[in-house]
Amino acid sequence: MGKNKNKRLIAALIIIVALTLPRFLLITVEEEERAYFDDNEMPDGPGDMKDWQAQRVSVCDKCLVEIKELVDKDIPPKSSGMSLYYYKDASRVRVDRRCPVHEDVTLNSVHDFFWDRNPEAKAKSEKPVVPEILDPLYLRVNQMDAAKWWRSLFICRECQKVLTERLGALMADEDASEELNALVPKLIRGEPVEGLPNKLYYTPDDITRYYCAFHKGQKFRDTVRIPPSPVTVKSLPDDTGLISRLYVRENPRQRINLMIVTAGRDKRSIHRPERCLTSQGYHLAHRTTINIKIPGSKRKSMAVKKLRMVKTQEGPESGQMRTERMIVFYWYASVEHITESNLARLMYTAWDRMVLGKNYRWSYLLLYSNAWPDLSKIGQITDKARKEEAIKEAEQSAEREVVEGLYTFMQQFFPHVEKAEKRRREEREKKEKAEKKQKGGAEISKKTLDVRDTL
Ligand SMILES: [Zn+2]
Ligand SMILES: [Zn+2]
Repeated sequence: MGKNKNKRLIAALIIIVALTLPRFLLITVEEEERAYFDDNEMPDGPGDMKDWQAQRVSVCDKCLVEIKELVDKDIPPKSSGMSLYYYKDASRVRVDRRCPVHEDVTLNSVHDFFWDRNPEAKAKSEKPVVPEILDPLYLRVNQMDAAKWWRSLFICRECQKVLTERLGALMADEDASEELNALVPKLIRGEPVEGLPNKLYYTPDDITRYYCAFHKGQKFRDTVRIPPSPVTVKSLPDDTGLISRLYVRENPRQRINLMIVTAGRDKRSIHRPERCLTSQGYHLAHRTTINIKIPGSKRKSMAVKKLRMVKTQEGPESGQMRTERMIVFYWYASVEHITESNLARLMYTAWDRMVLGKNYRWSYLLLYSNAWPDLSKIGQITDKARKEEAIKEAEQSAEREVVEGLYTFMQQFFPHVEKAEKRRREEREKKEKAEKKQKGGAEISKKTLDVRDTL
C-alpha cells in the first residue's frame, strides 16, 4: 500500500502547486487549443494499416437520442433492446432488412421460420411457415453448405408467394417439366427466376436497404466512428474530446477497442484509465510498463502501460462463474510530450504551466481487447489436475495472443498518427510564419509612412 499511496500524494501535491502557484506569481497561463489526436485523421480507411481494419457499423441517430434519455433518467439502456450501433451482417441482431424487390417488406431470418416437418406441430406453431411447395428447396439449400449459408440467409414472404405460384403453374403444366428442371437448381443456388427478380433467399450481399428495427423508416448511418457511450459522456466534462474505433484482424482473429479521451479546459477529463475500467466491474490483476519497437517512426520505441484486468461474474445461462480477461495498453500524449506514466504527465503539466506559462491539452489513448481461451478440447480430459493445467495453459496462450495483437497494432497505428500530427504542426508553423511576415510588412510600411509625415 505505502508506495502507491506516496505516489498519489506526490501527484496530488504537484497538481495543487501547478494550479495555484502561477496565480501567486502572476504568471498568465495560456491555453493551448491543439490536441495530439484528430478524429478526421485516424488510420481507419481500407489499407491504412496492414493487418488491422476499422470495423464499419450502422448507427441510428434516433436510438442514440433515446439511449441518452434513458441514461439521463438512470435507466439501464440495455432494457430497451436498443444499441449504440448495429452490425448489418449478423442475423440475430435487431436490424430491419428490406427485400431488394419489395421495398416495404421486412425480410425474415431463416431462424424466424418454423422448420419442424411434423404437420401437427406446424399447425400449432406461431412462427411463419414456409409454403409446402418451397420446403424441399430450402432443405436442399441447407444441405448444400449448411455451416456457411444457413446462418445469414434472409427470406421475403412476398417473394415466396411469387415463387410458389410460379412453381405451382409449372408443376401443373405437363409440357413444362424441362423448364421446371432448369429452374429448381437456380433457386437453390439463390439465383433469380427468369423474368422475375424474386429469389428463394437473400444473402447480406444482396441487401442494400437497412433500417432501424425500433424506428420505422429510419435509415442507418454507415460509419467507423463508434458512438461513445452516454454513460462515459455523462461522467466527463462537456468539453472533453472522445474518439472511438473498433479494429478487427482476420488472422489470427482479434478485435481491439480504441478510445481516446482528450481534456478540454476542465482537466478532470484525464485520469488514470484504471479508474474508468474498474468502474466497469474489472479489477486490476497486474500492471507493468512495456517497450514497443516502432519501425517507421522517428522515435525507435515507445513505452506503454500494460494492464491485465479480470472480471468474474455469473454466466447468464449456466449460472456458473465466468472469468473475463482483458488486456489494456495505454499512454498519454499532448502536442509536446508523450509518456506512459501518470506521474511524468503531471510533472510535464506542472513544468509547462509554471515555467512556460502554457497549458497543453492532454489525451490518453486506451486500447483494450478480451482474451477468450479456447476450451473446446478441455471436455475430453477426465483427470482433474490435468484438466486444470490445460485450462490454465489455454488462458495463458489466449492472453499471449492478445498481447501480441495489441503490440502489432501499436506498431502499425503509431507511425500513422505521428505523421498526421507532424503534418498539422508544419502547416500551422507555415501559417504562423506567413502571418508574422504580413504583420511585419505592415509595420514597416507604417513606419515609412510616419517618416514621410515628418518630412
Ligand atoms: Zn433506432
Ligand atoms: Zn420480396
